[in-house]
Parts: sequence; C-alpha cells; structure tokens
Amino acid sequence: MTREGILFVISAPSGAGKTSLCKEIIDFFPELRHSVSYTTRPPRLGETDGEDYHFISRETFSAMVAEGAFAEWAEVHGNCYGTAISTLESCRAAGRDVLLDIDCQGAAELKKSRRQGVFIFILPPSFDELRRRLRGRNTDAPEIIERRIANARGEIREAVWYDYLVINEELPIALEQLKAIIIAERCRNPRLLSTITEIFGTGESDK
Ligand code: 5GP
Repeated sequence: MTREGILFVISAPSGAGKTSLCKEIIDFFPELRHSVSYTTRPPRLGETDGEDYHFISRETFSAMVAEGAFAEWAEVHGNCYGTAISTLESCRAAGRDVLLDIDCQGAAELKKSRRQGVFIFILPPSFDELRRRLRGRNTDAPEIIERRIANARGEIREAVWYDYLVINEELPIALEQLKAIIIAERCRNPRLLSTITEIFGTGESDK
C-alpha cells in the first residue's frame, strides 16, 4: 500500500468518554499510531514520559513554539499542549495513520492549515448525563464540575464544523461508529486511487 497516512483528529468535552474510546480504538487498530503530544502539565500518577505525553517545561514549550515546531498548539485549563510537525510528517511519509486526541482550538487550527485530516467530535448524550459522569469520577469538586459543563457548552458549539459526530450514549455503540468511520475513510476513492493504478494499470481499456 502506497497511500499517505491519514490524520484522525478526535475532540470532545471532558466527560464525553474520549479517553476510553481512543484507548479502545488503538487496541483495535494496532497499526494506528497515537500521536504523543508535548505538554507543560505535570505527569499524573501512572503516566509515562514519551508514552502518554512528552512532559516539558514552559521554557522548552515556548522555544518550540518560536521554532515553529508545532502543527498546532493550545492552552487548555492553564497548561499548554502541542502536536509536533515532525510526528505528523513521519507518519504521513510512512503511510501510517495517526490518531490525535486534541482540544477544539487545536483541531480548528489544523482545519485552517492546509493539512488534510478527518475531524471527529464525540458528544455526551445530554448535559445531565455529562454532569452525572463527571460526578461519578469522584475526582473534581462541584464548582470544577460546573466549570467543565460551562466549557462543554462552548466546545459543543464547535461540533458543527467537524466531519463526523459520535454520540457516546453507550460506549460499545460509539466504539463501533468510530471503527466504521476509520474503515470507511481508509476505503475512500482518492486515497486508494494510486494503489489501484499500481496494481491494475492506468485504467486504459483492455479492448
Ligand atoms: P489532559 O490534561 O486531561 O490529558 O488533556 C486536557 C485536554 O488537552 C484534552 O482535551 C486533550 O484532548 C487536550 N490535548 C492533549 N494533547 C493536545 C495537543 O497536542 N493539542 C491540543 N490542542 N490539545 C491537546
């Protein structure tokens, strides 16, 4: 297969189930590479440098921004996050599909750039359900939960320009929808045309 790698960009408000879905998708498609972002956020318990994120200082992050090292970057909840151009380029050139789990600002920046991508937005089934899930995590104080819900309202407004919407009411169904999107995108005519031409020739009639 000689096609270029596809960039799958996934965004969602916190509590929509994006982390679980991305993990399941990577397990299901082992050839799909998860893009490891750079962040100034300190590692959480159980996170590994170079696997979950590249954990770097604000100074290093600013230097990378100045060098133009990022395809996109954004400040989210007081920390900076960015996707390195080198990560995307090496996957594209190797024909390797890559999954980006990034916020709406970063996704919008990528959409505005000339980089081709498939943009997928994951939604919770309702604000009530989102609140219930955020409370169920038992990680945030009530005022933080309300702030996350207020942020979610703004983020969900961005859903209009994404290519695909997945409503995560039940995780297994949302997962099937995500798999279907990835499989269908891999079969799109323009992506496979050069491979088909290599195998079957130029398309000239045999008659
Ligand atoms: P967390 O700190 O919980 O891992 O991530 C917080 C938010 O930052 C999530 O919405 C996540 O998708 C987003 N994020 C992670 N990496 C990047 C990145 O490289 N760029 C942008 N714009 N957002 C990112």
